[in-house]
Amino acid sequence: MSDKRIIRIDAHTLNTVQSCAREAKFSLKDLLVPMVKAEHLEMGILGHYFLAGFYQARKDGLKGKARVDKAIEEGRLKSFELSLEPDKRIEVEKEFFNYCLHVGEDIWEPMEVEAYFAKPLYEDDELMILAEGIIDLVGKNIKDDRPEVIDHKLVWRKSEPFMLSNQFFMYSWATEYQNIVINQFGMQKTLPPNEKFRRLPYSYTQAMIDEWIEWAIYWAKLWVWYQDNGVYPPNYTSCDKFSGCQFRDLCSTTKDTRDWKASVKFKVGKVWDPRSR
Ligand code: SF4
Repeated sequence: MSDKRIIRIDAHTLNTVQSCAREAKFSLKDLLVPMVKAEHLEMGILGHYFLAGFYQARKDGLKGKARVDKAIEEGRLKSFELSLEPDKRIEVEKEFFNYCLHVGEDIWEPMEVEAYFAKPLYEDDELMILAEGIIDLVGKNIKDDRPEVIDHKLVWRKSEPFMLSNQFFMYSWATEYQNIVINQFGMQKTLPPNEKFRRLPYSYTQAMIDEWIEWAIYWAKLWVWYQDNGVYPPNYTSCDKFSGCQFRDLCSTTKDTRDWKASVKFKVGKVWDPRSR
């Protein structure tokens, strides 16, 4: 039996390790999760449920109202897994309905919905780095018959995603499709549909992918080293990024009270798995 060590990484793991090793320890090793999941996060999950239902129904041959009804039925059923308040569920469902009105049958003929992949990124005699993820949609663009990888993103503010993203590089590498489209699903109440629901295409050449692979391996090996040596350097330049690191309270206290504070403010969740949102 082979005793080769297998390390599983996904884009979320790479992002976290690159952002802050201590954050990676708290979330990926200690599995700390806030007592109450952030509302926007849960709304994002619900939006993904509706969208997955919408494209799966099309893949199953449904069109028009039957397709939308099926997606809403599935989204509502899955929403019971979440702790969202009813008004927030209704808000997401309403925007999903607006999305359906705006895109109609849509430009994508779905090939795969919520497609899981696991593919070796690196392998030597002792170590395999297995990259994995779940892709929202792989669809053939009916305008030119070209397969595209589509990533749905619920947003509350107009934002321009950047092509230098571990997630998009990894999806392009895993599928061997050059074209990645960000399917921006805006939750802004005041914007017209054509500004809320935007498609942002990016294209990745093999040379770009090759360079990403080199650095992804570097960061994955560094994550292994951190864990083997129990060394998790904090990166204070990441604490206030985006809406702020969820562990700021833990880092803003002394070492000896950190464990106690963690036990009060967080619970231990499940091992991170890209297949569960
Ligand atoms: S608060 Fe800052 S140092 Fe602490 S885990 Fe978060 S990013 Fe790292």
